[in-house]
Amino acid sequence: MGSAAPASSALLHRTLHKEYAEAVGGDGVYVIRSDGSRVLDGCCGAAVSCLGHSDKVVIDAIVKQAQKMPFVHGSFFTNGPAEQLAKLLVDSSDGAFSKAVFLSSGSEAVETALKLARQHHLCNGQPQRWKYIAREGSYHGNTIGALSASHNPQRRVPFAPLLSPAFRHVAPCFFSRDGSLGEDEEAYVERLLAEYEKVFQQEGPETIAAMIVEPVAGATLGAVPAAEGYLSGLRQLCDRHGVLLIFDEVMCGLGRVGTTHAWQSLGDIKPDLQTIGKGLAAGYQPISGVLIGPSIVESMEHGEHGSPFISAHTYQAHPIACAAALATQHTIASRHLLDNVQEMGILLRQSLSRLPHVREVRGIGLFLAVEFASQTGKPMASSVAQACLEGGAAVYLCASLVDAVMLAPPFIIANEEVEELVAILERAIVAV
Ligand code: PLP
Repeated sequence: MGSAAPASSALLHRTLHKEYAEAVGGDGVYVIRSDGSRVLDGCCGAAVSCLGHSDKVVIDAIVKQAQKMPFVHGSFFTNGPAEQLAKLLVDSSDGAFSKAVFLSSGSEAVETALKLARQHHLCNGQPQRWKYIAREGSYHGNTIGALSASHNPQRRVPFAPLLSPAFRHVAPCFFSRDGSLGEDEEAYVERLLAEYEKVFQQEGPETIAAMIVEPVAGATLGAVPAAEGYLSGLRQLCDRHGVLLIFDEVMCGLGRVGTTHAWQSLGDIKPDLQTIGKGLAAGYQPISGVLIGPSIVESMEHGEHGSPFISAHTYQAHPIACAAALATQHTIASRHLLDNVQEMGILLRQSLSRLPHVREVRGIGLFLAVEFASQTGKPMASSVAQACLEGGAAVYLCASLVDAVMLAPPFIIANEEVEELVAILERAIVAV
């Protein structure tokens, strides 16, 4: 184990009841602790470090941009890296989006998408659309709007009085958990969509601004991909009622499932707005974004009740962060890393399926979760994650709604590193 940060640390950590090993470096898929020991990053922190921890191309791009022009404020100037990044992402979307805005965190991206949806309706003379439909077991961020959309009980409870009443939560799409006995996936999706229609009617569809969904549910439920027919059903439901569809791809997007956008692996159903984050600059800089569909741009530009978008942040379109993101996305393309995501995803999934005490391995690409079948009835995931870290690999502990850990290693992971990760996980399961 690496030496821990001192208990007297002035830094407020995520919990005051634990000491954290200090990370001092990175080498490919490994994080190096202060005592020189290495931890195989099996989850990229939280699906962030998709190029691993020592990518020279991205580091050089950051240094170059910092030397050239570190910052300009968006109310005075645009900048090259932000313009190029927006174009690259718009061009990657098969016409789904015509503009992009860049923020610093996934939560800010979600807040911005929610506001853009409201703004779209205001511009179209529909101020009565202020409600949002989100899903149970979702996570969209920690700021008050994003947390209102989220449905992670642990994170919501302390702040319940602050959360917005504009959000109504419906069941997520989770066939392996929620499908009824004798019901096939198609019938399950049909039943779920009929329930959503009922909720829309109860709320008054003309009062709903948008529905927000993670196409592959991430941190809370553990890599649950939308079932076949679900996203197209959602698209039809929203279109029927003039409701915008927001995909939150902060965790599952930008190559994590083997295609640039997760929806490209899930029936090619396009949203009106999409949030991105985490893998955008692979963690080399903090950056997130919202990709914006043409109908929203059109209504803001030409809507009868058009007005400027009243939501700006100081670090919006930050040149160094955008340069890092641009270099990350170019590297993913030039090294054909999405092929590796697909290939290593299959290998990892097969290897995980052979582990003991596993109820289900689920997910897509390099966005996988292992849900445990505890023999004692006591949840295992937390102890397994801890034993893994002690054994030299980091895996992501899902929220307490499921007894599961998530695996989301860097896109550059090689065969032998997959084997090492699974071996460490197996030893941890057996030890627990
Ligand atoms: N949306 C999703 C799907 C996420 O998984 C997260 C973070 O885990 C967020 C939004 C919030 O991102 P951030 O932690 O960067 O604010």
